[in-house]
Amino acid sequence: MKKINNNSANLQLGVQVSSDWRREKAIELDVYNQGMAKTELCDTWEEIGSCPYGEHCQFAHGITELRPVIRHPRYKTQACRMVLAGQICPYGHRCHFRHSLTE
Ligand SMILES: [Zn+2]
Ligand SMILES: [Zn+2]
Repeated sequence: MKKINNNSANLQLGVQVSSDWRREKAIELDVYNQGMAKTELCDTWEEIGSCPYGEHCQFAHGITELRPVIRHPRYKTQACRMVLAGQICPYGHRCHFRHSLTE
C-alpha cells in the first residue's frame, strides 16, 4: 500500500518538474535574447558626463536609459560552469551563476 502511494507521488512530482523545466527554458531564452545593452551605467558617461559612442553606446547614459534586467529564476543559485571548470568566466560579475560562495 505504502509503495503505491509513493509511486503516484513521484509521478505527480515528475510532471511538475518537467513543466517547470520547460518554463525555465523559455525564461532562459528571454534572458539570453535580451542582451546586456543598457543594463548598466556607462563608466565614461558617469565620469565625464559624455560618451564618444553617443546613442550607440552599449551602456546606459543615466538612470532613465537603464533597462531592467530579466533575472533567471535560478539567478546565482547555481555555481558557474566556467568557474567550476577552472576557467575565467567572460560574463564576470554579470554572470547569472555564482562565482563564489560569498556572492
Ligand atoms: Zn557610453
Ligand atoms: Zn560565470
